[in-house]
Amino acid sequence: MHVMRALSSASRGKRQSIMTEPRVIDCEEALRRLFEYLDAELHGEPQREMAQHLERCRSCFSRIEFEKRLKAYTAELRREPVPPEVERRFRTLLDTFKC
Ligand SMILES: [Zn+2]
Repeated sequence: MHVMRALSSASRGKRQSIMTEPRVIDCEEALRRLFEYLDAELHGEPQREMAQHLERCRSCFSRIEFEKRLKAYTAELRREPVPPEVERRFRTLLDTFKC
């Protein structure tokens, strides 16, 4: 009798994972994960969802591309001083990305 009760409560405690369609994340979620994605800190499902979103979403894709360039640019900054001309062009680029 006691065994039966223990068994039933054990199976109730286990959360059943229901198979669903792969969740497609929205832009808000994608932007939240953007930096983790860029730093290759996403793995497994979140990483797949992100890649999936980027395949479909043009605006997030270009946003990622922009952040990549920004990262490369700031890495460059640390190495050598940037000529004012380059900095001005970069600021113009920044402005075009502002929504
Ligand atoms: Zn998006």
